[in-house]
Amino acid sequence: MSQKIAIIAGAGPAGLTAAYELLKRTDIHPIVLESTNAIGGIAQTFNYKGNRIDIGGHRFFSKSDRVMKWWFNILPKQGKPAADDMEKNHDVDFVAEAIVDFLCPECGVSGKKAAPDPEKEDQVMLQRPRLSRIYYHKNFFPYPIGITLTVARRLGILNTALIGFSYIKAQIVPVKQETYLDAFFINRFGRRLYETFFKDYTEKVWGVPCNQIRADWGAQRIKGLSLKRAVTHAIKDLLTSDFKKAQQERETSLITRFFYPKYGPGQMWETVTEQIRACGGEVRMKRRVVGVKWKEESGKRKVTSVTIESVDTGETEEVPCDYFFSTMPIRHLVGMMHPKPDDRVCEVAEGLVYRDFLTVGLLLKKLHVQEQGRKPSTSVPDNWIYVQDGGVNVGRIQIFNNWSPYMVADRKNSTWIGLEYFVNEGDKLWVMPDQDLITLGIGEMEKIGFARKEDILDACVLRMPKAYPAYFGSYDQLGVIQDFTCGIENLYLIGRNGMHRYNNQDHSMLTAMTAVDNIAAGRTDNRNIWDVNVEPTYHEEKEQSEAGEEERKRRG
Ligand SMILES: Cc1cc2nc3c(=O)[nH]c(=O)nc-3n(C[C@H](O)[C@H](O)[C@H](O)COP(=O)(O)OP(=O)(O)OC[C@H]3O[C@@H](n4cnc5c(N)ncnc54)[C@H](O)[C@@H]3O)c2cc1C
Repeated sequence: MSQKIAIIAGAGPAGLTAAYELLKRTDIHPIVLESTNAIGGIAQTFNYKGNRIDIGGHRFFSKSDRVMKWWFNILPKQGKPAADDMEKNHDVDFVAEAIVDFLCPECGVSGKKAAPDPEKEDQVMLQRPRLSRIYYHKNFFPYPIGITLTVARRLGILNTALIGFSYIKAQIVPVKQETYLDAFFINRFGRRLYETFFKDYTEKVWGVPCNQIRADWGAQRIKGLSLKRAVTHAIKDLLTSDFKKAQQERETSLITRFFYPKYGPGQMWETVTEQIRACGGEVRMKRRVVGVKWKEESGKRKVTSVTIESVDTGETEEVPCDYFFSTMPIRHLVGMMHPKPDDRVCEVAEGLVYRDFLTVGLLLKKLHVQEQGRKPSTSVPDNWIYVQDGGVNVGRIQIFNNWSPYMVADRKNSTWIGLEYFVNEGDKLWVMPDQDLITLGIGEMEKIGFARKEDILDACVLRMPKAYPAYFGSYDQLGVIQDFTCGIENLYLIGRNGMHRYNNQDHSMLTAMTAVDNIAAGRTDNRNIWDVNVEPTYHEEKEQSEAGEEERKRRG
């Protein structure tokens, strides 16, 4: 009997995990097709003259041990300090040894070895401190926001009092229908705090007012956080005799740690690709999936073949397959299916909305952060900073030096930052020539008091379409798509855009793993793939429990 073939659309975390798992646990031959020239999808690392950009900043952390073990099997945890660990006094749990289980002997020799030294070896996962803050009116505020005395001082006494009153009002008369994001925020923080710290940034991310975005997104992002918690902390601080220490604890409780590949997230997926290829799997670049044929026979629906187009030549070929995994945007998948699905399915797929993303990379001699009432500072400890300011377009700033020192070609003499813009494909910013975007970015950095023009050494621009599947448009009718696609037994919708869900890498991988579990178990009902990441509290709960764990450890 000839070997079965699985076609996988997309070489992002979900598609590559599917290929890896198929090789590990089945006899199926995986063929991954990637339309671009980059491995890793949104989790790729873009290399600009040795300075690397991570799109959005990818922390490697997961509540799933299966995923954590999987990552460390590909890139083992560090055994020795990274280039900046000592100088910045990082608190790292070094490990003594790594146990690696390769897919096949062609990938490498499995077994125990000394944990890698990041200064000498490349295949290594670093442990990094996490800090992100909000930059508002030339002041830093903790993220997530909390009301500490420092925060109150920076906001001003009157403003803080008004925030308090507005919160009390929201508690006495909450917004009854919490369907949309503005109500979600107001009920937890009061209108004034919402308008100060959440509104501008959130509307920049989505490009629509908060009263049009469903609350599901907020529930995933900030569940468990509220002003009540923040105020309780503040009162505790005021009552404690050692006020300064309590303040410091409050600040440090916001710092947690995460794992990060030496050369950014793309390194994880490039290494996985090397192993897939070494074991006989295929990852074909610049090959776009443009057609998916399916048929119904004896009451069973199946995908029969996939049409592939070469991005360079435009030539197409039709490849028969036994399984088809899609990480493509649902809108594209449904649009390329033959025969055409029901009108209702097409309508919902067409109505799905995405938000696109672009990064302006700026290489600087140094930062010049003009925090109010302080001397300008040439560096900041943050991984990323939320820019809460409606007067500029930039939404967030990444400081790549703080993600990994190896992300920067000359880390001692330069600071490599990414200015993040949330855009729509085809809008004014998206079509703006790169040089104009760079000029805009530099101007905005000067305006918010973050950098000086004379310190710029180099710059580049990177665009990422469909970075965010939006929770508006026809999102609330996604069930129609689920019903239709689950009815095709060898079709697997996995990943982030593949399922139109706000999945991080771990969840994108788990959907791929579940699909392969189903194949390995001979299960044809694939609804369980949609059960991954339905628990809305996942993200922040995990982060908070990690923060709690950090604090417990610190206190001994
Ligand atoms: C700003 C931002 C920050 C993030 N931060 C984190 C984080 O801190 N931690 C974390 O774990 N996750 C994070 N994520 C999420 C993470 O990027 C995604 O979960 C992950 O990349 C999704 O993997 P995927 O394989 O489903 O999709 P993608 O990464 O989107 O990959 C899909 C691939 O399919 C290709 N493709 C599309 N259409 C076709 C076609 N027709 N034919 C062939 N190929 C096609 C695309 O080119 C792409 O390479 C973040 C995402 C964003 C946008």
